[in-house]
Amino acid sequence: MPPIIEVRHVTRRFGGFVAVNDCSLKVERGSITGLIGPNGAGKSTLFNMVAGNLSPSSGQILLDGEDITGVPPHKLFGKGLLRTFQIAHEFSRLTVRENLMVVPEHQAGESLLATWVAGGRVRENERAVREKADEVIDFLKIGHVADELAGNLSGGQKKLLELGRTMMTDAKVVLLDEIAAGVNRTLLNDLAGNIERLNRERGYTFFVIEHDMDLIGRLCDPVIVMAAGQVMMQGTLDEIQANEAVVEAYFGG
Ligand code: ADP
Ligand code: MG
Repeated sequence: MPPIIEVRHVTRRFGGFVAVNDCSLKVERGSITGLIGPNGAGKSTLFNMVAGNLSPSSGQILLDGEDITGVPPHKLFGKGLLRTFQIAHEFSRLTVRENLMVVPEHQAGESLLATWVAGGRVRENERAVREKADEVIDFLKIGHVADELAGNLSGGQKKLLELGRTMMTDAKVVLLDEIAAGVNRTLLNDLAGNIERLNRERGYTFFVIEHDMDLIGRLCDPVIVMAAGQVMMQGTLDEIQANEAVVEAYFGG
């Protein structure tokens, strides 16, 4: 079986600046693969290309062996490749449950509030969507805030909701870009536990950019180190931290 994600010789230029430089890597099915590296290494640019938010200048990206280079995000969503997004302003006035219920339509590239409020397709299967939302709420143990407006959640609770939104469809692989930033330890522990359970119990693959080494060490194997737009090393966090060149380029700096 092909890896769930394969990046082949991908380069991305911004004007004369090369942010991602002939980068190749694989994310194996069923893994929680970490992506670390100093600021400016090109991690987010790489994610944006994998998620379809940005086109490579050259190179190829495969999902499950299928060429998805330049395929837009809503099409990738349909193929089970998702990334988490901060709860947009317009959704802060919806409850947690409503935020989950609108995902299937919204991510499919439709104007969500119009569809949802006016009725139409969502209404027809509203019961199924509501049941799914309740199942997600149970799984994440966020029942106590299910009817709270998303705008009133703490930073960590918002991250849990963002993770929950990926569960409203059949995700194969989920990209997480720095979810630990600004999240307190207790909620971070919840978040990590849920990522582990989704991986173990639901077969999710995760591709995770993270600065928090505790979280990387707990969740990720393998870990890929990027520097100056290229992959510098891949291994367990222990192997990486034992590599002098990497430590100098990254941890030491
Ligand atoms: P990381 O996520 O590893 O911190 P980024 O992928 O965000 O790194 O950025 C890599 C480099 O590309 C940085 O030097 C950044 O300034 C540059 N860059 C990223 N996006 C753009 C853009 N839209 N236009 C110009 N330069 C960009
Ligand atoms: Mg970044």
